[in-house]
Amino acid sequence: MTQSAYPMLPVSEALAIVLAQATPLAPVMVPLAQARGLILAEAIRAAEPLPPFPASVKDGYAVVAADGPGDYPVVGTVTAGQVAGFTVTAGTVAYITTGAPLPSGADAVVMVEETELLPARNGQTFVRIGRGVDAGADVRPVGFDLDAGQVVLPAGAYLGAAEIGLLATVGQAMVPVHARPRVAVLSTGDELVEPGERLGPGQIRDSNRATLIAAAAAAGGEVIDLGIAGDSEADLAAAFARGLERADLLLTSGGVSMGNLDLIKPLLDAAGTVHFGRLRMKPGKPCTFATVARGERQRLVLGLPGNPVSSLVTFYLLGVPAIRRLAGWPDPALPRVHAHLAQPLRLDPDRPEYHRAVLRWDATLNQGRGGFLATSTGNQASSRLLSMRSANALLELPQQAGVLQAGEIVSALAIGDLES
Ligand code: AMP
Ligand code: MG
Repeated sequence: MTQSAYPMLPVSEALAIVLAQATPLAPVMVPLAQARGLILAEAIRAAEPLPPFPASVKDGYAVVAADGPGDYPVVGTVTAGQVAGFTVTAGTVAYITTGAPLPSGADAVVMVEETELLPARNGQTFVRIGRGVDAGADVRPVGFDLDAGQVVLPAGAYLGAAEIGLLATVGQAMVPVHARPRVAVLSTGDELVEPGERLGPGQIRDSNRATLIAAAAAAGGEVIDLGIAGDSEADLAAAFARGLERADLLLTSGGVSMGNLDLIKPLLDAAGTVHFGRLRMKPGKPCTFATVARGERQRLVLGLPGNPVSSLVTFYLLGVPAIRRLAGWPDPALPRVHAHLAQPLRLDPDRPEYHRAVLRWDATLNQGRGGFLATSTGNQASSRLLSMRSANALLELPQQAGVLQAGEIVSALAIGDLES
């Protein structure tokens, strides 16, 4: 019997090895508009307080709170973006809009709904203030939202919409972030042709490259397309060289199993260090990880299996965390949730299985407290890419004989948006 030289590693150990080799890329400055999805490399402080002036929270009248309800002359108007050139003295009020600086002398705002505009007397506008307010009412004092000097975002923060807004608020037009990882994607196999080509005898279309390019971009990578390499050492070595020149992470698919033309492992062994060459999991057992020295930074190489499902599942399990760690994520792991099985699932006694499923929130689960219901995507053959279609989770099925019954709870790794 032909045996693989590589021990079968549990996925958790393999992930720890990958993350230990993937150190965050050096910080770079990028324009704010390009910072979304990246990780902040330095803490950002607010230089000025927000608001920088006492600002009205409402449309209404700036008042001296001690005056109380009554009829008052309106001595002026101040709208957002302007500064009042007058003072509100006791016994007078000023019209003010939301976000406008409170005029000097005023100490509160009464919203317009609590007032009534009166007929002018001798050309002077009067307003009836219907309700007394405390000093400070409906005024945001200086620094209410942000103090000057306050850390608004720590190093390691993920830059989503709110974080981009905070950076804009504090005037951070250029943002120090960890560089976006460059991810090169290579398909290998003599049988592969491009999606636009007609199939000749024995040929299939290359689906892994399109899949992995999409998945790597979605994971935050800047993708380099290396095309298809045939099953020859010369072809593969040339493609490797192109990838390793520029990429932080090289993803290959195919050529890692036990066939005569599975040349990736020996090539990686010659070029660098193979850290593992087999995983105790299904689907994706032959998944291989290596590091190769190049310039001042070592390159990471994930030799993913050729079967379309295996390559995508192993990319989620190891590739996504690797990209995130390179990008500076403090915790690069996929989110994990509990899910109730919608149907019984047969277990594999030899390997833990990552079963593709659709997770949907079901309000009737857990005695009406709600929970995720996991529906299998059907036949889990590693060639059947349809089993990944619309899957938003990988159920972590234990290595065990027998069947898990419908209703049993399993852990699940989220690989897409959870459905409601
Ligand atoms: P391999 O690991 O190279 O032996 O490939 C395993 C299986 O995956 C074979 O059936 C290949 O034809 C198939 N395969 C490999 N690469 C791709 C690809 N890029 N797109 C679609 N199928 C592939
Ligand atoms: Mg092949």
